[in-house]
Amino acid sequence: MGHVIAIDGPAGAGKSTVARRLAERLGFTFIDSGAMYRAVALWALREAVPLDDAHRLEQLANAAAIDLLPHNRVHLNGEDVSEAIRTPEVTAAASRVAAIGGVRAALVAKQQRMAEASNVVMEGRDIGTVVFPHARVKIFLDADAVERVRRRAGEQPHVPSEQLAAQIAERDERDRSRAQSPLIQAPDAVYLDSTRLTLEQVEEEILRIVRSRISNGKES
Ligand code: C5P
Repeated sequence: MGHVIAIDGPAGAGKSTVARRLAERLGFTFIDSGAMYRAVALWALREAVPLDDAHRLEQLANAAAIDLLPHNRVHLNGEDVSEAIRTPEVTAAASRVAAIGGVRAALVAKQQRMAEASNVVMEGRDIGTVVFPHARVKIFLDADAVERVRRRAGEQPHVPSEQLAAQIAERDERDRSRAQSPLIQAPDAVYLDSTRLTLEQVEEEILRIVRSRISNGKES
């Protein structure tokens, strides 16, 4: 098992951007666990599987061959779905399929295997609580709701910001209130509020935590 840096938090807190940069600096593999839930959701939408059909969704999650490749590319069953998984429909569907225990079990097992052979920076909602409860470094990256909507608006300038705000609020509420692996801060995670920090400041702060927790020679 390699070192694991777990970064959890709500949508729009800046997890992916900072996790990707950290991985690059440290020579770790970056893993966007949300892309895996999105890939299962995309497959379900394409197959017209009802988003409350737990049994069939679990089957899809187990059968899905999901490859997370460099440069943000995501393959589902050999097909490049990197753009297809970022639509608003898939985003909404992802948080619904992610509420299903069987789907989570399938994807968590895949995520755990990904860290067997390499050091990883993994970001998501349950990485520090469920996927790697013994990770040496756990960060709960947060930002206030207005700032999170503002950041998403920068990425999706064509969507009205009221609509983005409503979508983010709905998704966070579902992620925080679900019975299976809800979005919560692990007791041993460092809480980091990025509202008033630049990306560089967030990165430096996490690097400082990484150095203090990983460089003392113990295994993760
Ligand atoms: O991070 P991203 O916004 O791409 O995640 C999409 C959805 O996948 C989230 O809203 C959440 O419901 C789900 N997710 C999860 N656990 C993770 C990562 C993502 O439940 N570790």
